[in-house]
Amino acid sequence: MKNKTYYIHTFGCQSNKSDSERIAGDYEARGYTEASDWRVCDELIVNTCAIRQRAEDRAKGFLHNVRVHFNEIGKQRPKIILTGCMTHHGNEKLYEMLPIVDEILPINEVGFNTAAIRKDVKHAWIPISTGCNSFCTYCIVPYSRGREQSRDFEAIITEVENLVDRGFEEITLLGMNVNSWGLEKLGIGFRKLMMENKEFTRDDLPDNQSQYLTPTGTPPFVKLLQAISAFEQIKKIRFMTSNPWDFHDELIAEIGRNKKIDRYVHLPIQSGSNAVLYRMNRGYTKERYLEVINKLRAADPDIVVGTDIIVGFAGETEAEFEETVQLSKEIDWKVGFVAIYSPRPGTASFRIYPDDIPHAEKKRRWEVLDQIINKDNFDSRPVVI
Ligand code: SF4
Repeated sequence: MKNKTYYIHTFGCQSNKSDSERIAGDYEARGYTEASDWRVCDELIVNTCAIRQRAEDRAKGFLHNVRVHFNEIGKQRPKIILTGCMTHHGNEKLYEMLPIVDEILPINEVGFNTAAIRKDVKHAWIPISTGCNSFCTYCIVPYSRGREQSRDFEAIITEVENLVDRGFEEITLLGMNVNSWGLEKLGIGFRKLMMENKEFTRDDLPDNQSQYLTPTGTPPFVKLLQAISAFEQIKKIRFMTSNPWDFHDELIAEIGRNKKIDRYVHLPIQSGSNAVLYRMNRGYTKERYLEVINKLRAADPDIVVGTDIIVGFAGETEAEFEETVQLSKEIDWKVGFVAIYSPRPGTASFRIYPDDIPHAEKKRRWEVLDQIINKDNFDSRPVVI
């Protein structure tokens, strides 16, 4: 009998692409084979992104095209399974919004340890943690992916060993806050933040975003980098996403001396105004961000830094935006992924702040920053967050 086939259509970030590799692994372990196209598969998995409204619209548009296609050719459509960040809407709402969906796969059920089916033969993405405890007010991730959970050290190293045996040379470690990997297992100073299903104001949020006290001795993430670097065949290690909290001095020193770690460090700032950072619940100041950058550059002058910035966040005054402009000139990031703010239903900022900056003004601010940061070294387009 012919094997049943699957096809995965992936939207969004690298975490989603990495999850799709593991979803494929799960299907193949169950005897399915990959179809060459969604038009000819038995099961179609749609791995969605919800970080921006436009991302959700794209998934809806794709499902619309699937429905139209099978109606036109008069054939039975594949079974449709929806997963990824749109699952934050909850099953009931999703089935109502997208009646074509047959099944919803909670993203947490994909699991870290399912063997990935990789297209690349040299570079591999490895998830080291999932979820997030940080609750930046604009972000849906803590609701869609749940609480931060670190993958076991042994499981990560076993995966690296297997990759090395197969000739892989480059690794990118993935997580929402890679720098705090392993800290929750130490049980040090975890500050429980349960803001779901609760009315709250900005005053309910903490002033320090770090969920953990600074560990004594070498932080777990640094130990992980050292263990992976010890594989002779591994030539390059990257990691994302870093954040200014839990970016310990030991990590900066390790990046400085360990040249297997990529010289490009991606460190989102989101805003150069402390007042805006406070409203975003980012839990650091621009001074703390500058401290990390200066230490990185002192550790190795070849290190270059890129960032993410949101313009037009709720209540962002012209003076607050100007602070971001000034900081951009001062820091001279190599690249900046500048996003235009739009409130996402389900997030804290959607509930507690009016979206009061006109779209044309947001667009103007985007253009100003894009010109300063990206100039001619990066081909960017405006995105709406
Ligand atoms: S750190 Fe903030 S922006 Fe990043 S995933 Fe967590 S809540 Fe979202």
